[in-house]
Amino acid sequence: MRLTQPYDRTVHRALRTVPHYRERYAATGTLPPLTRDEARLRRHLLMPLDAALLPRRDPGRPPRDHVAELREALRIAGHPVRGVDVYEVARSLRDPVRAYGTTWRVLLDATAETDGGPTRRALPEGPALVVGDPGWADGPYPDGVVGVARFGLAAAAVAPPAPGSLWYEPWLGYLGAVAPDCGELHLDTARVHARALDGSTVLTLLRRRRPTFVHAEPEGGGAFRPERCPRHGGPVLRPVRSPR
Ligand SMILES: [Zn+2]
Repeated sequence: MRLTQPYDRTVHRALRTVPHYRERYAATGTLPPLTRDEARLRRHLLMPLDAALLPRRDPGRPPRDHVAELREALRIAGHPVRGVDVYEVARSLRDPVRAYGTTWRVLLDATAETDGGPTRRALPEGPALVVGDPGWADGPYPDGVVGVARFGLAAAAVAPPAPGSLWYEPWLGYLGAVAPDCGELHLDTARVHARALDGSTVLTLLRRRRPTFVHAEPEGGGAFRPERCPRHGGPVLRPVRSPR
């Protein structure tokens, strides 16, 4: 029972304080899967009433929260970060963050709009980790620089992600990683709860309020189901049918 408590608390708080979930529950008696498109269209209704800023004045997520999430995914994936600069490929710049014994920086994605800012050619010097989508993770990199791939579930449903890579959905953040020793897709259990609902895997973010995500359905969620890691016992997602 203890394991389900943070999930229960998050659901109850959403029903009390977040307009979208109050509406859905009043109409259907359940909280159906929330798709990415629906979340985008109803973003203002996913904000809790007790923090009623106008959406256009929402300050967004503190960078430190994002860094903490990325750090946990890297830990699950078996990448030590102390003393190693971490570069995250992103579409917008962010000031470097000092935390956990390292500096967390952003590398601008080649597809980001820039005015001649840094590009892919401006690679860091080691020791460093570069976290990016598959084209980035492949390198080549200078000595001491290691590429870490991130993937979404939709891609993982087509090609199993390699051990050491990070699970990332752009609208939900870093959610877990493929552990190096067991090869299973482990969840960041302090932040994410997964369950099956209406034939898909849906995710509830346990620490996010703005917006609040309950039963968010990532693309590709239908290809996975929540299970337990045979080796570690913790929650993992496994393909509904094993890839051949
Ligand atoms: Zn495991």
